[in-house]
Amino acid sequence: MTLHKFDDRIQERREERKMKDTILLDFFKLSLKEMDQYIDALQHVCNVPLLTNYLNNYVIPVVADWPGQVFTRQAITLRLLNRKDNIPNSILSFIPIIGVLHIQLNLLESIIKIYWDFFNMEYQYVFSTSKALSKTPSPYRTFVLLELARSAWKKIKPIVMGKFDKHCKDIEFLFLFELLDNTVPVGLDIYSTLFRSGDWESCIEGVFRAWSIFLQFERRNYNKAPLAFLSDIFYWGQTNHPILNILKEHLVKFTDYPVENMHSRIRRQTSPIDTPQHLSKTAKIVDARKTINSFEDIFAIQKKSTYADKDHLALLTKKAQVFLLEIFGNAYQRLGQSSIVKGPGENISFKLASLNITVDKKQMPLGFSSKHLPLYNKCDHCYEILCNGTGKSSMVIACGHGYHESCFTISLNGKCYCENFLKLGIQINVSSLVSRLSKLNKSKSNLKNMIEADEDSPQDQQIVNEVDILEVLRKDKQALPRVEQAYSIALERFLNINTTII
Ligand SMILES: [Zn+2]
Ligand SMILES: [Zn+2]
Repeated sequence: MTLHKFDDRIQERREERKMKDTILLDFFKLSLKEMDQYIDALQHVCNVPLLTNYLNNYVIPVVADWPGQVFTRQAITLRLLNRKDNIPNSILSFIPIIGVLHIQLNLLESIIKIYWDFFNMEYQYVFSTSKALSKTPSPYRTFVLLELARSAWKKIKPIVMGKFDKHCKDIEFLFLFELLDNTVPVGLDIYSTLFRSGDWESCIEGVFRAWSIFLQFERRNYNKAPLAFLSDIFYWGQTNHPILNILKEHLVKFTDYPVENMHSRIRRQTSPIDTPQHLSKTAKIVDARKTINSFEDIFAIQKKSTYADKDHLALLTKKAQVFLLEIFGNAYQRLGQSSIVKGPGENISFKLASLNITVDKKQMPLGFSSKHLPLYNKCDHCYEILCNGTGKSSMVIACGHGYHESCFTISLNGKCYCENFLKLGIQINVSSLVSRLSKLNKSKSNLKNMIEADEDSPQDQQIVNEVDILEVLRKDKQALPRVEQAYSIALERFLNINTTII
């Protein structure tokens, strides 16, 4: 996996995630495309002699991706409602929990897809290439582009915020701010940092923020998966269920990482045309060898890393800073010139003046998905100028709405229009999920709807282009001083840039 970085807090928890503690019970062929096959898989677990008794008194959490969640939940629901005969009682001994790693993988994939125009520009600029970014970049490339954008933004944010008014409600500025200050950090941190640090409160908040991004993206299935998880958590909290404390204290153990790790190892040692028998045999060998890996690691010749090292990252981050300074400089020049384009029906899109792209509400802050579109430089409650020089204090909040302080705290009672959008998103998705789970659907289209687009994309794709690029950087001794110089020029231009009035 390439999504991992380790800070101190995460190091401490590393022990708990070691692969040597995982046990492979069995490895056999199932298509995992319908509920019955999940029941079959879980029945295998029940049939392990040691577990048969255990499951009479205890439950086992099933941490899995969306199909693993929805089919297990469906089986449990149908069993409880007695709507289908042959569902064994033992299914009630399993508790599906959404894997936070899968939330992150799907979120990153959605972010790069939805903001492709922006990341394509970043990619071409930072890697000095005229080649377009793939529409479905590898997870590694996605991660690199987002990480570079994040670390560059961190460095130039004070400079940018010093130039733009803190009440700026320019559409293009809000687009950039939302992406860099909210969406990208949530995508990068939800599993890699928040979950792995074991910090419960931050992780739960992160899951909610990830859900609200999925909601805005109108991302199928994942606009529901985090809600099912949060609903369980709140229910256990209300009923004082002991499982909640176990989750809080051992959060990092409830991970889908070992399964993904095992899949990667097996994929590396097999080919797609291998028979199920051969795959099963290999899986068992891989499992048996995992404990002697540390011994092998000491003697094995380390393969040269194809990933960027520290120096390259510093260079690429600096380039990303130049890229962002130019983008924000251009946006400043065209302040107030981005516009709302009304399409057929209720469709609206936003023409970003300097980036010269058209985006829709999915790419904009939450407020643009609400019934009240944020107004440029006006209070979204009283429609008067936000900063009219009378000293009336005002604010622009994270959703892109801006208010006079008195309008927000007194007239609106501290509640933005966006709250309704979120509430509605919860209601609609929860009721759609509940009806889906309690139905015996055999229809193919329903089934397709449940799993399509949520099959894992392979995590070990070959990183070909990055290797070339890094090789060029390695050889070019002048690269860093040149970028430093470009940065100084970009900074000076940014600081002196003015808004053009047309
Ligand atoms: Zn007002
Ligand atoms: Zn709002």
